[in-house]
Amino acid sequence: MESEFIAWLRARLPEPANPLLGPGDDAALLPCGPAGSCLATVDLLTEGVDFRLAEADARRVGRKALAVNLSDIAAMAGRPTAALIALALPRNGAPQPGGQHLSALELAIELYEGLLPLAQEYDVAIAGGDTNCWDGPLAISITVWGEITPRGPLRRDGAKPGDQILVTGNLGGSILGRHFDFEPRIREALLLNQRYQLHAGLDISDGLSLDLSRLTAESACGAEIVLDRVPISPAAHQLTQSLADGVSPLDHALSDGEDFELLLAVPADEAQRILRDQPLSVPVASIGQFVPQTGLWQVDRDGRRRPLEPRGYEH
Ligand SMILES: [Mg+2]
Repeated sequence: MESEFIAWLRARLPEPANPLLGPGDDAALLPCGPAGSCLATVDLLTEGVDFRLAEADARRVGRKALAVNLSDIAAMAGRPTAALIALALPRNGAPQPGGQHLSALELAIELYEGLLPLAQEYDVAIAGGDTNCWDGPLAISITVWGEITPRGPLRRDGAKPGDQILVTGNLGGSILGRHFDFEPRIREALLLNQRYQLHAGLDISDGLSLDLSRLTAESACGAEIVLDRVPISPAAHQLTQSLADGVSPLDHALSDGEDFELLLAVPADEAQRILRDQPLSVPVASIGQFVPQTGLWQVDRDGRRRPLEPRGYEH
Protein backbone atom coordinates (compact mmCIF):
# COMPACT_ATOMS: atom_id res chain seq x y z
CA MET A 1 0.00 0.00 0.00
CA GLU A 2 2.84 2.39 0.83
CA SER A 3 4.26 2.60 -2.69
CA GLU A 4 0.79 3.18 -4.09
CA PHE A 5 0.26 5.91 -1.51
CA ILE A 6 3.63 7.57 -2.19
CA ALA A 7 2.84 7.58 -5.92
CA TRP A 8 -0.46 9.30 -5.17
CA LEU A 9 1.23 11.76 -2.84
CA ARG A 10 4.04 12.73 -5.23
CA ALA A 11 1.48 13.45 -7.92
CA ARG A 12 -0.69 15.39 -5.50
CA LEU A 13 2.01 17.61 -3.95
CA PRO A 14 3.14 20.83 -5.58
CA GLU A 15 6.76 21.01 -6.84
CA PRO A 16 8.99 21.87 -3.88
CA ALA A 17 10.39 25.36 -4.10
CA ASN A 18 14.14 25.75 -4.33
CA PRO A 19 16.19 25.29 -2.10
CA LEU A 20 13.82 22.79 -0.54
CA LEU A 21 14.32 19.17 -1.50
CA GLY A 22 11.90 16.40 -0.73
CA PRO A 23 10.08 14.09 -0.62
CA GLY A 24 11.78 11.48 -2.79
CA ASP A 25 15.32 11.52 -1.49
CA ASP A 26 16.59 9.96 1.74
CA ALA A 27 16.11 13.14 3.73
CA ALA A 28 14.61 16.54 3.19
CA LEU A 29 16.64 19.70 2.75
CA LEU A 30 15.05 22.49 4.74
CA PRO A 31 15.53 26.24 4.78
CA CYS A 32 16.62 27.76 8.09
CA GLY A 33 15.92 31.41 7.36
CA PRO A 34 18.18 34.44 7.56
CA ALA A 35 18.73 34.01 11.29
CA GLY A 36 20.48 30.67 10.70
CA SER A 37 18.49 28.83 13.36
CA CYS A 38 15.06 27.35 13.05
CA LEU A 39 12.10 26.14 15.07
CA ALA A 40 10.95 22.53 15.17
CA THR A 41 7.91 21.03 16.87
CA VAL A 42 6.19 17.64 16.85
CA ASP A 43 2.73 16.42 17.87
CA LEU A 44 1.23 12.95 18.04
CA LEU A 45 -2.51 12.39 17.65
CA THR A 46 -3.96 8.93 18.29
CA GLU A 47 -7.33 7.35 17.68
CA GLY A 48 -9.24 6.89 20.91
CA VAL A 49 -7.29 9.60 22.73
CA ASP A 50 -7.53 12.66 20.49
CA PHE A 51 -10.39 11.67 18.19
CA ARG A 52 -12.63 8.76 17.15
CA LEU A 53 -12.78 8.09 13.43
CA ALA A 54 -16.34 6.75 13.75
CA GLU A 55 -17.31 10.27 14.89
CA ALA A 56 -14.77 12.55 13.22
CA ASP A 57 -14.27 13.05 9.51
CA ALA A 58 -10.74 11.94 8.53
CA ARG A 59 -10.14 15.23 6.72
CA ARG A 60 -10.79 17.18 9.93
CA VAL A 61 -8.42 14.87 11.79
CA GLY A 62 -5.70 15.41 9.18
CA ARG A 63 -6.20 19.17 9.24
CA LYS A 64 -6.00 19.26 13.03
CA ALA A 65 -2.82 17.17 13.11
CA LEU A 66 -1.07 19.88 11.10
CA ALA A 67 -2.88 22.83 12.69
CA VAL A 68 -1.75 22.00 16.24
CA ASN A 69 1.86 22.14 15.05
CA LEU A 70 1.31 25.42 13.21
CA SER A 71 -0.16 26.80 16.42
CA ASP A 72 3.08 25.93 18.24
CA ILE A 73 5.11 27.74 15.57
CA ALA A 74 2.73 30.70 15.96
CA ALA A 75 3.34 30.59 19.71
CA MET A 76 7.03 31.24 18.98
CA ALA A 77 6.11 34.00 16.50
CA GLY A 78 7.72 31.95 13.75
CA ARG A 79 6.88 31.33 10.13
CA PRO A 80 6.24 27.64 9.32
CA THR A 81 8.20 26.29 6.35
CA ALA A 82 7.98 22.50 6.10
CA ALA A 83 6.37 19.42 7.62
CA LEU A 84 7.30 15.74 7.96
CA ILE A 85 4.34 13.41 8.39
CA ALA A 86 4.37 9.95 9.97
CA LEU A 87 1.26 7.75 9.73
CA ALA A 88 0.55 4.43 11.42
CA LEU A 89 -2.57 3.26 9.62
CA PRO A 90 -4.96 0.55 10.81
CA ARG A 91 -4.43 -2.32 8.35
CA ASN A 92 -8.15 -2.88 7.87
CA GLY A 93 -9.01 0.78 7.50
CA ALA A 94 -11.43 2.68 9.71
CA PRO A 95 -15.09 3.60 10.06
CA GLN A 96 -16.30 7.13 9.36
CA PRO A 97 -19.39 9.06 10.47
CA GLY A 98 -22.47 7.96 8.57
CA GLY A 99 -21.45 4.30 8.44
CA GLN A 100 -18.88 4.70 5.65
CA HIS A 101 -15.74 2.54 5.85
CA LEU A 102 -12.36 3.68 4.49
CA SER A 103 -9.56 1.32 3.47
CA ALA A 104 -6.10 2.11 4.82
CA LEU A 105 -5.16 3.79 1.54
CA GLU A 106 -8.39 5.80 1.45
CA LEU A 107 -7.82 6.85 5.04
CA ALA A 108 -4.29 8.07 4.25
CA ILE A 109 -5.59 10.03 1.28
CA GLU A 110 -8.43 11.60 3.28
CA LEU A 111 -6.02 12.65 6.06
CA TYR A 112 -3.80 14.34 3.49
CA GLU A 113 -6.76 15.94 1.69
CA GLY A 114 -7.61 17.49 5.05
CA LEU A 115 -4.16 18.87 5.78
CA LEU A 116 -2.96 19.88 2.32
CA PRO A 117 -5.19 22.97 1.95
CA LEU A 118 -3.93 24.22 5.32
CA ALA A 119 -0.31 23.54 4.29
CA GLN A 120 -0.91 25.49 1.11
CA GLU A 121 -2.59 28.38 2.93
CA TYR A 122 0.44 28.82 5.19
CA ASP A 123 3.05 27.96 2.58
CA VAL A 124 4.21 24.82 4.37
CA ALA A 125 6.00 22.29 2.17
CA ILE A 126 5.29 18.63 2.81
CA ALA A 127 8.95 17.62 2.91
CA GLY A 128 8.52 13.91 3.51
CA GLY A 129 7.33 11.35 5.99
CA ASP A 130 6.72 7.69 6.63
CA THR A 131 3.61 5.54 6.30
CA ASN A 132 3.06 2.12 7.87
CA CYS A 133 0.14 -0.24 8.28
CA TRP A 134 -0.29 -2.13 11.53
CA ASP A 135 -2.86 -3.90 13.69
CA GLY A 136 -3.28 -0.91 15.98
CA PRO A 137 -5.43 2.22 15.63
CA LEU A 138 -4.56 5.32 13.60
CA ALA A 139 -1.65 7.37 14.90
CA ILE A 140 -0.53 10.50 13.09
CA SER A 141 2.58 12.41 14.01
CA ILE A 142 3.61 15.61 12.29
CA THR A 143 6.86 17.50 12.73
CA VAL A 144 6.90 21.11 11.55
CA TRP A 145 9.86 23.37 10.91
CA GLY A 146 9.70 27.14 11.09
CA GLU A 147 11.83 30.20 10.55
CA ILE A 148 12.20 32.85 13.16
CA THR A 149 11.95 36.47 12.12
CA PRO A 150 14.60 39.14 12.81
CA ARG A 151 12.62 39.91 16.02
CA GLY A 152 13.67 36.50 17.34
CA PRO A 153 11.54 33.74 18.82
CA LEU A 154 8.78 34.59 21.27
CA ARG A 155 9.61 32.62 24.40
CA ARG A 156 7.81 31.71 27.60
CA ASP A 157 10.38 33.11 29.99
CA GLY A 158 10.21 36.83 29.26
CA ALA A 159 7.12 38.02 31.18
CA LYS A 160 7.79 40.79 33.72
CA PRO A 161 5.68 42.06 36.61
CA GLY A 162 3.57 44.93 35.30
CA ASP A 163 3.15 43.37 31.85
CA GLN A 164 -0.43 43.01 30.69
CA ILE A 165 -1.87 39.55 29.93
CA LEU A 166 -3.33 39.70 26.42
CA VAL A 167 -5.36 36.97 24.70
CA THR A 168 -6.68 36.69 21.16
CA GLY A 169 -10.21 35.52 20.35
CA ASN A 170 -12.70 33.85 22.68
CA LEU A 171 -12.09 30.97 25.04
CA GLY A 172 -13.84 27.78 26.15
CA GLY A 173 -16.13 25.15 24.68
CA SER A 174 -13.82 24.14 21.84
CA ILE A 175 -15.04 20.53 22.21
CA LEU A 176 -18.18 21.59 20.32
CA GLY A 177 -16.13 21.80 17.13
CA ARG A 178 -13.48 24.52 17.27
CA HIS A 179 -10.84 22.03 18.46
CA PHE A 180 -10.91 20.64 14.90
CA ASP A 181 -11.57 23.75 12.86
CA PHE A 182 -9.53 26.41 14.68
CA GLU A 183 -7.27 28.77 12.77
CA PRO A 184 -3.63 28.64 13.92
CA ARG A 185 -2.66 32.22 14.85
CA ILE A 186 0.39 32.40 12.57
CA ARG A 187 -0.46 35.69 10.86
CA GLU A 188 -1.59 37.24 14.13
CA ALA A 189 1.59 36.32 16.01
CA LEU A 190 3.85 37.50 13.19
CA LEU A 191 2.04 40.82 12.92
CA LEU A 192 1.99 41.49 16.67
CA ASN A 193 5.64 40.51 17.10
CA GLN A 194 6.71 42.67 14.20
CA ARG A 195 4.71 45.77 15.08
CA TYR A 196 4.82 45.74 18.88
CA GLN A 197 7.19 44.80 21.65
CA LEU A 198 6.13 41.47 23.16
CA HIS A 199 7.86 39.97 26.20
CA ALA A 200 6.56 36.38 26.15
CA GLY A 201 3.86 34.18 24.71
CA LEU A 202 2.41 30.75 24.08
CA ASP A 203 -0.60 29.15 22.43
CA ILE A 204 -3.41 28.12 24.77
CA SER A 205 -3.59 24.38 24.10
CA ASP A 206 -4.35 22.87 27.51
CA GLY A 207 -6.49 25.59 29.13
CA LEU A 208 -6.03 29.31 29.88
CA SER A 209 -5.23 28.98 33.60
CA LEU A 210 -2.94 25.94 33.18
CA ASP A 211 -1.01 27.46 30.29
CA LEU A 212 -0.77 30.81 32.09
CA SER A 213 0.68 29.02 35.13
CA ARG A 214 3.32 27.46 32.85
CA LEU A 215 4.24 30.85 31.43
CA THR A 216 4.54 32.40 34.90
CA ALA A 217 6.65 29.44 36.07
CA GLU A 218 9.07 29.96 33.18
CA SER A 219 9.12 33.71 33.81
CA ALA A 220 9.49 33.40 37.61
CA CYS A 221 6.57 35.71 38.37
CA GLY A 222 2.83 35.43 39.04
CA ALA A 223 -0.30 36.60 37.27
CA GLU A 224 -3.59 38.18 38.24
CA ILE A 225 -6.67 37.55 36.09
CA VAL A 226 -9.62 39.94 36.27
CA LEU A 227 -12.44 37.43 35.84
CA ASP A 228 -14.87 39.89 34.24
CA ARG A 229 -12.40 40.52 31.42
CA VAL A 230 -11.96 36.92 30.26
CA PRO A 231 -13.43 36.66 26.73
CA ILE A 232 -15.88 33.77 26.85
CA SER A 233 -16.82 32.05 23.60
CA PRO A 234 -20.45 31.41 22.62
CA ALA A 235 -19.54 27.69 22.62
CA ALA A 236 -18.67 27.88 26.34
CA HIS A 237 -22.16 29.25 27.07
CA GLN A 238 -23.68 26.57 24.88
CA LEU A 239 -21.74 23.85 26.69
CA THR A 240 -22.87 25.09 30.12
CA GLN A 241 -26.48 25.02 28.95
CA SER A 242 -26.35 21.60 27.34
CA LEU A 243 -24.32 19.82 30.04
CA ALA A 244 -26.15 21.46 32.98
CA ASP A 245 -23.37 20.15 35.26
CA GLY A 246 -22.81 23.38 37.16
CA VAL A 247 -19.62 24.27 35.25
CA SER A 248 -19.98 27.94 34.32
CA PRO A 249 -19.01 29.45 30.96
CA LEU A 250 -16.20 31.27 32.79
CA ASP A 251 -14.91 27.94 34.16
CA HIS A 252 -14.88 26.55 30.63
CA ALA A 253 -12.96 29.60 29.40
CA LEU A 254 -10.43 29.23 32.23
CA SER A 255 -9.84 25.50 31.92
CA ASP A 256 -11.02 23.97 28.63
CA GLY A 257 -8.23 22.76 26.36
CA GLU A 258 -7.61 23.30 22.66
CA ASP A 259 -8.54 26.96 22.24
CA PHE A 260 -5.29 27.51 20.31
CA GLU A 261 -5.46 31.24 20.91
CA LEU A 262 -2.40 33.33 21.78
CA LEU A 263 -1.58 34.28 25.36
CA LEU A 264 0.93 37.14 25.54
CA ALA A 265 2.91 39.13 28.07
CA VAL A 266 3.14 42.71 26.81
CA PRO A 267 4.59 45.83 28.44
CA ALA A 268 1.71 48.05 29.64
CA ASP A 269 2.21 50.91 27.15
CA GLU A 270 2.54 48.50 24.21
CA ALA A 271 -0.55 46.63 25.40
CA GLN A 272 -2.51 49.90 25.37
CA ARG A 273 -1.45 50.46 21.75
CA ILE A 274 -2.53 46.95 20.74
CA LEU A 275 -5.88 47.29 22.51
CA ARG A 276 -6.46 50.67 20.87
CA ASP A 277 -5.30 49.58 17.39
CA GLN A 278 -7.02 46.15 17.44
CA PRO A 279 -4.78 45.22 14.48
CA LEU A 280 -6.01 41.63 14.03
CA SER A 281 -9.09 40.09 12.44
CA VAL A 282 -9.85 38.63 15.89
CA PRO A 283 -10.29 40.75 19.02
CA VAL A 284 -7.39 41.14 21.46
CA ALA A 285 -8.30 41.55 25.14
CA SER A 286 -6.37 42.32 28.30
CA ILE A 287 -7.41 39.93 31.06
CA GLY A 288 -5.09 41.12 33.80
CA GLN A 289 -1.42 41.57 34.58
CA PHE A 290 1.72 39.80 35.64
CA VAL A 291 2.73 40.38 39.27
CA PRO A 292 5.92 39.83 41.31
CA GLN A 293 4.30 37.33 43.70
CA THR A 294 4.37 33.84 42.18
CA GLY A 295 1.14 31.91 41.67
CA LEU A 296 -2.13 32.66 39.92
CA TRP A 297 -4.66 35.09 41.33
CA GLN A 298 -8.24 35.89 40.42
CA VAL A 299 -9.87 39.26 40.98
CA ASP A 300 -13.66 39.17 41.13
CA ARG A 301 -16.23 41.87 40.37
CA ASP A 302 -15.91 43.35 43.87
CA GLY A 303 -12.14 43.62 43.60
CA ARG A 304 -11.50 40.67 45.95
CA ARG A 305 -8.27 38.86 45.19
CA ARG A 306 -8.03 35.11 45.77
CA PRO A 307 -5.71 32.32 44.58
CA LEU A 308 -6.71 30.69 41.29
CA GLU A 309 -6.13 26.96 40.94
CA PRO A 310 -4.66 26.27 37.47
CA ARG A 311 -6.87 23.74 35.72
CA GLY A 312 -6.82 22.28 32.26
CA TYR A 313 -5.95 19.26 30.20
CA GLU A 314 -3.05 17.24 31.63
CA HIS A 315 -1.56 14.81 29.12
MG1 LIG B 1 2.20 25.22 22.53
